[in-house]
Amino acid sequence: MKKPIFYALLIITILSSLTSNAQKIKALVGGTLIDGFGGAPIQNSVVIIEGDRIKAVGREGELAIPKDAEIISTEGMSVMPGLWDMHVHLMINGHSNYTHWDSTYINKFESIIMPSSAHQLLMAGVTSARDLGAPLEASIKVRDKINQGKIPGPTIYVSGPFLQHRPYPNTEAFRWGIYGEADAKAKVKKLADAGVDVIKLIDHDEMTKAEAQTIVNEAHKYGLPVIAHSHRPNEIRVGLEIGVDCFEHTGLSSAPEYPEDILIAIKERTAKMNMGPLFWTPTVEGLYNYEYMRDNPEKLDDPSWHLGLPQDIIDDIKGSLKHPGQMPYFQLTPIRKPTLTKKLMQLKDTGVVMMIGTDSGIPMKFHSQSTWNELDVWVNKMGIDPMYAIKAATYWPAVAMKVDKDYGSISEGKYADIITVRGDVLRYISLLQDVKMVIKHGERVK
Ligand SMILES: [Zn+2]
Repeated sequence: MKKPIFYALLIITILSSLTSNAQKIKALVGGTLIDGFGGAPIQNSVVIIEGDRIKAVGREGELAIPKDAEIISTEGMSVMPGLWDMHVHLMINGHSNYTHWDSTYINKFESIIMPSSAHQLLMAGVTSARDLGAPLEASIKVRDKINQGKIPGPTIYVSGPFLQHRPYPNTEAFRWGIYGEADAKAKVKKLADAGVDVIKLIDHDEMTKAEAQTIVNEAHKYGLPVIAHSHRPNEIRVGLEIGVDCFEHTGLSSAPEYPEDILIAIKERTAKMNMGPLFWTPTVEGLYNYEYMRDNPEKLDDPSWHLGLPQDIIDDIKGSLKHPGQMPYFQLTPIRKPTLTKKLMQLKDTGVVMMIGTDSGIPMKFHSQSTWNELDVWVNKMGIDPMYAIKAATYWPAVAMKVDKDYGSISEGKYADIITVRGDVLRYISLLQDVKMVIKHGERVK
């Protein structure tokens, strides 16, 4: 083909795809709308989607439905923003042995494992996810491919490698040690230059204070939030002192509650209005449900987590989960579990903004199930109000990632990231295990 003709055709193709996309109007009509802001749900709702954005939101009989709209009935359904999962691990998928997994599959993280994890999340109604800890190049490439629409998945935000005092043996590809302040500066720069969305900090209580502080200062210079582990009380103490933006986990210790000095320090931080909210992703479900999973492992046989994985990898994961009661990873869990609810409630009372995140991918936790499991434990086991839990999985994560003008709620101008379930999700949160419809950027993907 001659070049001018080729370019002319190319331009026509691009133009026509642009106009057809812009003209595509959908109307979701009839269901009960939970918009993400936490207010009363809207009955008999109408959501008009034009192209990839939400054009208007209202009620039947009040909001006109454009004549050319494709009408999608949501009668009998709850309609809500696509879920966010603020703590996933795309590079793992439920296998019980990390050493084996990393050494066997590290060269397949980018091509197979991370894309399949992402696809599974999307099919579970997760339209945005924060991936915390994976090799740098793979993280960026998989995120970009998804965000450019080349492969299916939630909109992804990545940290790339963890920054920590010393990497554990054979994890250097995704755990970077920090060796002095200059090194801290250089490593944050390397991550920022590569285009990560957040910085992930772990074991910062083992670094020198100057190293940890340098990481936060440098990250903030690049406009990157710092996400810090909080397994140990000292990780929280140091994290508050150096000014991290978000904590992860509820503490892996078997201590029955948070010490008083920590609660005071957190409250002092949440009182500082100029610093904005302090975010916290408690990730309780993996621990909370371990004994249940050990004794009721049928869920592990659900084929939803096979999506995108070749048979040999599926068999390897299955084989590793044959004896759920014998995994070293979980042996302390029965001692830790009874402390979880108390700690979560203590945290909630300090005024932190809690968000849904799951550690999805850890042993026995599949991306196709993790997110609704976390919501279920919050609501049905820990007594958290379902609207609070939904806001923690929609509105607040978008604020934490500073994208709330485009994401996190069903309101005019936002990207159309919308899911539906049949029935009343505020009465029965576990309906989220069976998401009927997933719309991402205006396109129905389920
Ligand atoms: Zn994690």
